Amino acid sequence: MPPETSRRLPRILAVVNQKGGVGKTTTAINLGASLAASGRRVHLVDLDPQGNASTGLGSEAMTRDHSTYDLLLGDAALSEASRPTQIENLWLVPSTSDLSSADIDLMTNERRTHLLRNVLRAESVASLGADYVLIDCPPSLNILTLNAMVAADALVVPLQAEFFALEGLSQLMLTLREVRQSANPALRIEGVVLTMYDRRNNLSQQVEADARGTLGEMVFQTVIPRNVRLSEAPSHALSVLEYDPQSSGARAYKALAGELMAREAREVAE
Ligand code: ADP
Ligand code: MG
Repeated sequence: MPPETSRRLPRILAVVNQKGGVGKTTTAINLGASLAASGRRVHLVDLDPQGNASTGLGSEAMTRDHSTYDLLLGDAALSEASRPTQIENLWLVPSTSDLSSADIDLMTNERRTHLLRNVLRAESVASLGADYVLIDCPPSLNILTLNAMVAADALVVPLQAEFFALEGLSQLMLTLREVRQSANPALRIEGVVLTMYDRRNNLSQQVEADARGTLGEMVFQTVIPRNVRLSEAPSHALSVLEYDPQSSGARAYKALAGELMAREAREVAE
């Protein structure tokens, strides 16, 4: 049996893809909400200076007293920076625009890629009783995304079912290899999830076939369909599960959470 503390540390998943608009934030919010709906305690860390996950979960920019930036700088612990959302079991560490200068601000800090790891793996985090920390990354492979990759146990990679989708992955894989070699040897890819999938569209099917052919088991069986409910939900500060529980988007993200938890159970058993 593992020691008490290691059991209570949350699993850290970073949602990454250096391309913008591929569904990272939508996945972070709705996968987070789906895990929360299954009774898991989830803390979502918004690591994108644009703050879409924060806004989408109803955090007003003016009221963000503690932010991801405070976490990075060690000015706040996870328990201080994380606040409840309208969704039960889902907490948020909001981002602020000052994150956008992190690259420059942290340039002279020798531990600059380990800042998030240090706070998310601090002993105090175990007492939070969280099951997951989900990190919503910015659309770049910058110092912020590196912090997420150094901190994470595994990556969830949304892949938009579009032309050239796979090309961006090679850069991400190179970075993954570097992070493994230098800072986080245990880092894995939890899974690649196809987003904005349109079953009637040949291109979607072709991208899916390519992805499954190239990446095999790494690709989640669950695909996320293009569903307007997913794009509407954030303006109501809700996940799609509350906004329209019967929508194809809600069903897909619940299935994705189920698949993720099943994968974990299998990994533990192996
Ligand atoms: P990223 O965080 O990678 O930049 P987002 O999650 O913000 O991407 O998604 C980009 C845009 O596409 C947003 O307007 C979002 O609402 C929309 N979107 C994301 N996933 C879907 C989907 N499955 N169906 C319809 N719209 C989606
Ligand atoms: Mg985003």
